Amino acid sequence: MKELVLLGASGSIGTQTVDIVLQHPDLFHVRALSVGHNIKELRKILACLDTELICVQEEKDAHLLQKEYPQRRFVYGDTGLLTLAGLKDYDVLVNALVGFAGFAPTMKAIETGHEIALANKETLVVGGELITDAVKKYGVKLVPIDSEHSAIYQCLQGNRRSDVKRLWITCSGGAFRTLTREQMKDVTVDDALSHPNWHMGPKITVDCANLMNKGFEVMEAHYLFGMDYDDIRVVMHPQSVVHSMVEYVDHSFIAQLGAPDMRLPIQYALTGPERYYYKEENPMDLWQGMDLHFEAPDTEKYPLLALAYETGRKGGILPAVMNGANEEANLAFRQKKIPFLKIEEIVMGAVRACVWQPVNTEADLIRGDRFGRDYAQRMIKETLN
Ligand code: MG
Repeated sequence: MKELVLLGASGSIGTQTVDIVLQHPDLFHVRALSVGHNIKELRKILACLDTELICVQEEKDAHLLQKEYPQRRFVYGDTGLLTLAGLKDYDVLVNALVGFAGFAPTMKAIETGHEIALANKETLVVGGELITDAVKKYGVKLVPIDSEHSAIYQCLQGNRRSDVKRLWITCSGGAFRTLTREQMKDVTVDDALSHPNWHMGPKITVDCANLMNKGFEVMEAHYLFGMDYDDIRVVMHPQSVVHSMVEYVDHSFIAQLGAPDMRLPIQYALTGPERYYYKEENPMDLWQGMDLHFEAPDTEKYPLLALAYETGRKGGILPAVMNGANEEANLAFRQKKIPFLKIEEIVMGAVRACVWQPVNTEADLIRGDRFGRDYAQRMIKETLN
C-alpha cells in the first residue's frame, strides 16, 4: 500500500489519478490532496476518498470547508502546499499542479526524502538544474507522468543507459497541425482548445497548439534522462499512438504504444516497473487497422520548439524567463486579450531581452520568472492599447 500526497487533484491529471486510486484501493491511499479554486470538484473527490488533510488556494474556502467537513483538516495557499509536501508519513508526491507554482512543493518533497511522480513539467523546465542536484543529494526517485517521458522510461527498462543513442519524442502537432502560419493568425481560443487526440487542461492544450509544450518536453527529457540536447529529437506523429521511442546504439528502436489515455502513465509512475490492470474504455486493437505516420517537425512554422532547444542549451535563468513569459501570454490568449501568434512573439522577445545569469538558488529562478512575466505583461498591455 502506497500513501500518496496528490497536488492539483481537481485538474485533468488529478482526477485521473483519483480514478486510478479508486480502481486500486488495495494499492493506493491518498493521505493528503490539494485543489485550487474548484471546490465543486473537491466535494466530488471527498465523497469517494477519506483523505484527512486538504489544501485549497483561498483562506476563506478553507474556513467554510472546515465547517462542512469537521472530521477533516484544511490548510490553504502556498504554505499549505508546502505543509502537504513536507508531511512525514507518506511515500509518493504526485505533483499535478500547473505552472511554476509546482516547483517549491516538489523541492520540499525531495528535501524531506519522498519519491516524486511528476506531471508538473514546469518544475523541470524552470528548475531542472536544482531539481536534478537535489534528487541526487537526497537519493530520491523522480518518475515522469508525462506520456512521452513515461514511454521513454518504459522503453529504457532492461537496457543499459550507456547503450542509448537517441530519444525520439513524438508530437501530434496539436490543434493547428494542418494549418499554415497565415491561417494560424486568426485562430480562436476554442480552435486552440480542441486537441485532436488528447483531453487535457486548457493551459497545456494551448501549449500543444504552438509546440511550446513539445519544447518543454525536450527540456524535461534532458533532465530526466541525462541526455544531451543533440540526442533528443522531436518527430511529428499525428496519430498519438506511439508515445515516444528510444533508439539504441545497434540502431534498434524501442517504442511504447497505447491508447491516448493518461491513466496508463499515471499508474505506471506509481507501480513501475510492475504493471497492473486498469479499466480502459477504448483499448488499442490493431485488428481494426492502423496507419502510423512520422515526419520531421517544421521549426519555421513552430519557432517555439527551436527556442526551447536554444534556451535549454543556454540554461541559467533563461528557461525561467521563457516559462514565466509563456504562462502570462498563454493566459492572455485564453482571456482573448492577444491573438494566438502573439504568444510566441512575447515568449521569444522575453528570452532575447534577458541577460544570461546562472542559477544557484530558488531565488534566481524567481527572478527569471518575474522578468519573463513582467516582460509579457508589458507586451500584453501594448497589444490591448
Ligand atoms: Mg506530453
